[in-house]
Amino acid sequence: SGVPDKVLHIDDVHKSFAGLHALSNVDLDVRHGETHAIIGPNGAGKSTLLNVCVGRLPPDRGAVIFDGHVLTGKTPHEINQLGVARVFQTPEVFLDLSVLQNVMVPALSKRDGPFKLNPFAAFAGETEIRDEAEAVIASVGLADHMRDTASSLSRGDKRRLELAMCLIQHPKLLLLDEPTAGMARHDTNATIDLLKRIKEGGMTKVIIEHDMHVVFSLADRITVLAGGRIIAQGRPEEIKNNPKVKEAYLGE
Ligand code: ADP
Ligand code: MG
Repeated sequence: SGVPDKVLHIDDVHKSFAGLHALSNVDLDVRHGETHAIIGPNGAGKSTLLNVCVGRLPPDRGAVIFDGHVLTGKTPHEINQLGVARVFQTPEVFLDLSVLQNVMVPALSKRDGPFKLNPFAAFAGETEIRDEAEAVIASVGLADHMRDTASSLSRGDKRRLELAMCLIQHPKLLLLDEPTAGMARHDTNATIDLLKRIKEGGMTKVIIEHDMHVVFSLADRITVLAGGRIIAQGRPEEIKNNPKVKEAYLGE
């Protein structure tokens, strides 16, 4: 972990569910500023790996080290406080709050700790955080929905909202689990453009993605998982024509 170039170091991670080896012997380094894609067929272990990284699942063996901190054994909240933000496969937003309030929540809880008060009262008077939230919401393309209730958003817009909730935290590492899943091509392209802009800002990202168009548009390096094991790792041009990768996707 002493190598500053590595933001995230996944060391020999194993995870089984009742005898099913969801992850075996997974080693992965993510470098500062890179966009690292994790790809692989359904059931390959991609979401499990992300859940291990954010403290939602304990690994059976191995460790995850982020920015010099051992994450293994820490809670999701502790890991988030260290600068790791994540967008899950199923959007997790506060359905009863407005878009603006949703984006203010992570900024307020970063400053004050997790919400214990009535969240509605907590938004009053927070002009600085509200201004920043409005700017972030505009940057993800949701300016027209600022006052809408999150429950009224389309699935694609909920994902954009979740991304805004991450961006306002200024994370050192952003983890995205299938950010374009369920989106129409137009929304997918808008999301790719947004993620490219974030990349220009230098944020380190790990992106799990099923859509090869997205992967090859964004990734600096790619790790391919199949059956819980890494079967290939390298630059997009190295992965594209790798016969093992093609074989893993056959029958999908
Ligand atoms: P991916 O995200 O690559 O599609 P997952 O990480 O979700 O794959 O799942 C990997 C394997 O682990 C699958 O066979 C899945 O059914 C299994 N699995 C994932 N989570 C659990 C769980 N909580 N309990 C039991 N099995 C699980
Ligand atoms: Mg998954």
